[in-house]
Amino acid sequence: MKTMLNARMCISTIPANNCSARYAVLGAGFAGLSVAWHLLQHSSKDSHLCIDIYDEVGIGGAASGVSGGLLHPYSPKVKVLWRGEDCWNECLRLLSVAERALEARVPDSISQDSSFFCMDEPIVCRRGILRTMMTEKNAEIMKENARTCIENCNLELLDKDAAQNLVPRLHVPLNAAVYMPQALSIRPTHYLQALFAACKNQADELCVSFSKKVEVNLYKESIDTLCELAGKYNAVIICLGAKVDMLPEFSGKLPLRTCRGVVAQLNLSAHSRDEYGCNSPSILSDAWLSFQGPRTVLMGSTWDWSSKNYSSSVCEDESSMALQELLPKASAVYPSIREWTFIRARAGLRAMPPLTNFGSLPILGCVNDAVKPKNKCMYWLFGGLGSRGLLYHAFLGKLLARAVVSDDEMVLPPELTSWKQMKVWKYNL
Ligand SMILES: Cc1cc2nc3c(=O)[nH]c(=O)nc-3n(C[C@H](O)[C@H](O)[C@H](O)COP(=O)(O)OP(=O)(O)OC[C@H]3O[C@@H](n4cnc5c(N)ncnc54)[C@H](O)[C@@H]3O)c2cc1C
Repeated sequence: MKTMLNARMCISTIPANNCSARYAVLGAGFAGLSVAWHLLQHSSKDSHLCIDIYDEVGIGGAASGVSGGLLHPYSPKVKVLWRGEDCWNECLRLLSVAERALEARVPDSISQDSSFFCMDEPIVCRRGILRTMMTEKNAEIMKENARTCIENCNLELLDKDAAQNLVPRLHVPLNAAVYMPQALSIRPTHYLQALFAACKNQADELCVSFSKKVEVNLYKESIDTLCELAGKYNAVIICLGAKVDMLPEFSGKLPLRTCRGVVAQLNLSAHSRDEYGCNSPSILSDAWLSFQGPRTVLMGSTWDWSSKNYSSSVCEDESSMALQELLPKASAVYPSIREWTFIRARAGLRAMPPLTNFGSLPILGCVNDAVKPKNKCMYWLFGGLGSRGLLYHAFLGKLLARAVVSDDEMVLPPELTSWKQMKVWKYNL
């Protein structure tokens, strides 16, 4: 089976009958691939299984692919986020699943159009993230919050000398910074390619171990309406990021706002001897610096609220405006960034969820009320991953897969489904 082909040309070898489960996952970003992986883990060992993943661009084609790859379980004021420990641990688990697939890659097991086999660099590019404190007021709150941390992602309060030990020439405005030694910077597209390969490997293993047919297929195809999929699947899981409300079934019904972010890649010029140390952390401040290597950094991000520009391409005007905004913020803590050279900019659209008492949480749940299916198919939404999709995708993908397999929305914590009480959903159905 090819990795990318037109679904209308593809005929699955798995029969659509009572002893097979057929799922469509729409979107191959963090959300979609996490759900696909967890469906493979939680589906019945007795029935055949087919998971068709649809993405109009391909793996990591939208926000996930351009994200900064910064991963830690804390808010900007270093408070543990909702279910932070579960999210963090599940993420580490999924990262190691992807890392194992990268190590075990055998050419030809996925199609030639994948760049997967050309990936020489590891998924995790750096350990440790340092957050600087920029105002007195925030510094007090952060110092207080930093007293509580999760077990395997601790927080250390550093003074200027200690911070500069980690990052020479760092500017530490208030003589204080918070260091997260176990936090990670990853290469998002490497991760997603490897996670997809892990899904394919897992399907092969399930075939052998349980003598049943298991398929994971990726179709590079745009889904314009959910009617297109009617009658083919037991469940459809919608993981379309900021583009979800382009589906007519959801237009104007979801409590999501869009926000475009530009990320700039900067490199250190070949003649500069001052490489960024391999033990120096990535940096969070009013702008972030996600160091991908000793001579490559991603600098982000802008926040263009309500933008509907889905394109990952950034024109010259937009990139120069982004640089004008980001460089002063980044150089306020890491002045040497001005010696780095701009290479290119890319952008993604975040799907921002509403603020709840627990913070801004992704929105999950069964959405049959909006789709009104004429058959038994269940439709599920996994959206609104906001600006922390990498942290949330693994744990919530696991919860959602459980809900899908058991046909039971009650498996999901009420915090994630409470959005369905909002007027925008209830009164537009
Ligand atoms: C600039 C920027 C930097 C970020 N940095 C970080 C970070 O450092 N750490 C972090 O945790 N989070 C970060 N985020 C947030 C994170 O990227 C998102 O929360 C996450 O990518 C959302 O994942 P998703 O799978 O829901 O959506 P997406 O990644 O947008 O995936 C949706 C997929 O659906 C496909 N699709 C859409 N419509 C259709 C259709 N009609 N038919 C078929 N396919 C379709 C798209 O091609 C896409 O591949 C960042 C976001 C941005 C924009």
